[in-house]
Amino acid sequence: MKDPQKIYIKKNGTADIECPICHDTKTILASSFKDIKRPLKVQCTCGAHFQVRLEFRAMYRKKVNLLGTYTNLSSRNAQGTLLLNDLSLQGIGFTADEKHTIKKNDNLVVTFVLDDPHGTVITKNTTVVSVRKRAIGCEFESTTYDSRIGNYLLT
Ligand SMILES: [Zn+2]
Repeated sequence: MKDPQKIYIKKNGTADIECPICHDTKTILASSFKDIKRPLKVQCTCGAHFQVRLEFRAMYRKKVNLLGTYTNLSSRNAQGTLLLNDLSLQGIGFTADEKHTIKKNDNLVVTFVLDDPHGTVITKNTTVVSVRKRAIGCEFESTTYDSRIGNYLLT
C-alpha cells in the first residue's frame, strides 16, 4: 500500500478527502478525529480502500506570546498569571508564575487575550496534562471546534 496521503485541515475545521481512484471528494469534520494518531482507513463508495493522515499539528499549533490568568479549581481557586507559549485547538502550553501549585490533572479556568484586531478574550476550562517546573501543558475540556481559535491559528 502507498503512503497515506496527507490531508490538511481547513479554516472551518473540516478536511476534504479525495478518493485516488474515482476522485470523489468527501468532507469530514476533522476535529472528531483529533485523537487518532494513526492513518485513517477510508472506504470510498466506489469500493476503493485507501489511507489518509490528518495533519493537525502542522496547521494547528502556534507559538504565541500572550498574557493571561488562571484559576485553579482543584486548589482552592488559587489564581495566578501566565504567559501563553503555544496554542492549538486542543489545548495550550504556558509558563506559570514562580510560586504556582499546579499539579497534573488539576482543573484550571484559563483566560487569555488574543492579539488579533478584536482583542478576543478566550476563557477555557482545561485539564493539566503536564507540569515541568513552570511549564504547564493543558488540554481543553470541550472538544467542540472553537472557530475563534481556529481562525487565529491560521492568520
Ligand atoms: Zn472512489
